[in-house]
Amino acid sequence: MSGTARRIVVIGAGPAGLAAAAAAAGAGADVVLVDEGERVGGQFWRHHPGFTDPRLQHQLGRFGALQAGIAGVRVLSSASVWRVEHGAPSRVHLLIGPADAAERRGETLEADAVVLATGAHDRVLPVPGWTLPGVTSAGAAQALAKRDGLTLGTRTVVAGAGPFLLPVAQSVSLLGGEVAEVVEAASVRTLVTGWGARPWQLTAAAGKAGELGSYLGSLARHRTPYRFGSAVTRIHGTSSVEAVTVQRIDASWRPVPGTERTVECDAVALGHGFTPRLEAAIQFGCRITPARFVEVDSQQRTSVAGVHAAGEITGIGGADAALAEGEIAGLAAARVPVADLRYRAPLAARRRMRAFAARLEVHGIRPGWTGWLDADTIVCRCESVRKATIDEYAGASSRGMRLATRAGLGACQGRTCGRSVEDILGTPFGVDRRPVLSSVRIGELAAHCSPAALEPEVAASAHPPQEKR
Ligand SMILES: Cc1cc2nc3c(=O)[nH]c(=O)nc-3n(C[C@H](O)[C@H](O)[C@H](O)COP(=O)(O)OP(=O)(O)OC[C@H]3O[C@@H](n4cnc5c(N)ncnc54)[C@H](O)[C@@H]3O)c2cc1C
Repeated sequence: MSGTARRIVVIGAGPAGLAAAAAAAGAGADVVLVDEGERVGGQFWRHHPGFTDPRLQHQLGRFGALQAGIAGVRVLSSASVWRVEHGAPSRVHLLIGPADAAERRGETLEADAVVLATGAHDRVLPVPGWTLPGVTSAGAAQALAKRDGLTLGTRTVVAGAGPFLLPVAQSVSLLGGEVAEVVEAASVRTLVTGWGARPWQLTAAAGKAGELGSYLGSLARHRTPYRFGSAVTRIHGTSSVEAVTVQRIDASWRPVPGTERTVECDAVALGHGFTPRLEAAIQFGCRITPARFVEVDSQQRTSVAGVHAAGEITGIGGADAALAEGEIAGLAAARVPVADLRYRAPLAARRRMRAFAARLEVHGIRPGWTGWLDADTIVCRCESVRKATIDEYAGASSRGMRLATRAGLGACQGRTCGRSVEDILGTPFGVDRRPVLSSVRIGELAAHCSPAALEPEVAASAHPPQEKR
């Protein structure tokens, strides 16, 4: 990094991080862009070097422009951030190399400002039978389609809540798979009330209407039924998926008895929205909103000086919102004055996309979903913890619950099960208190903390020279 330019580290190279890095670099900052993925693009732009199907990718022109915009940026791919420290400068600790590589190289970056753009995981609610082969998250099905041009089965049920089910169904169809049904939890009435309110706010997000039209057109062409106010409440099969039960649910997502139907399929893609990846923000000490997103001001500044946040970690709004927020965050991190004209376009885009994003609440998870679980349903997949075990320790503290049941203590550290356990208990489970950023092997930690890897003064005090003993 050069001596005088402002040093900015951007964590996450999805739409938000790419836009932040390009904007900050364009404003003269010295930028490092870090992502644990093999390539930049995040969840939205996924390609395999040997496979790019333009029908499955969206906004490739914008992607190309962003790649040009980061031409002067140091890009570190396959680089997992495992620890962050706030200060002057702040520090970002990385392990570089494929996650399953035997030897990953450690590196620590110093930054005058950090932009957090770590995105979100897709959320999947447990369903009896969801651990059978053939069941994936909707995001995983989409990633498989975009990156590898593959579908998991030949006849797929896409189920859950939210507009994201539609591109997933379209991708499966484009690749020649049959989509048996798309099953949406929100009822027609809820959708009409939620999406129909203040329609003039949506005219500004006209691109989204075009996108929606293309997805609905794809369903119509393939004669795919789109069911509302319904859920997959059971997945059947012996060694893999053979069928699902689709059932009507009430406004609180409680299954309505007597409405069960069986749909034959060999794959199920489940998606019930997204959960932000807050770990780095929590480690930095950023304030988190009651809805559990990173709190930011109009310039995407968090409550911690010099730390900015953009994209899905500040609210679920899709790629266009992430792009606008990232650009604002990059400019602000580079200390471009707020009156500068470069803010104008992304500020307007953010306003438009927020009106769209607010509508997504109509697809929000309702508490009655726990009514489709039975005692044997696995809730924590990493540690195979059943619903009955969670119920048994329901009176314990969140720590007691984790220790007694092991829910949340597995490889994902509660990312997948944590909020489901909370819904079952009706109380916080403390997942946000365990901000594990990424898995680190003990050997890697030991190497990082060896005297040679520590700062000279720390190393000297840890191992004083012989003559001073
Ligand atoms: C599996 C999945 C698939 C999706 N597919 C689509 C789609 O096809 N179409 C669509 O409109 N929306 C899709 N979405 C929604 C999508 O997340 C947003 O629309 C958009 O990508 C959000 O941009 P972002 O920059 O905020 O986050 P992301 O695109 O999620 O980018 C965040 C980046 O941060 C990196 N990161 C996180 N933590 C670390 C760390 N500790 N160290 C290093 N890097 C880190 C991640 O590797 C990731 O590349 C998908 C979401 C998921 C979860």
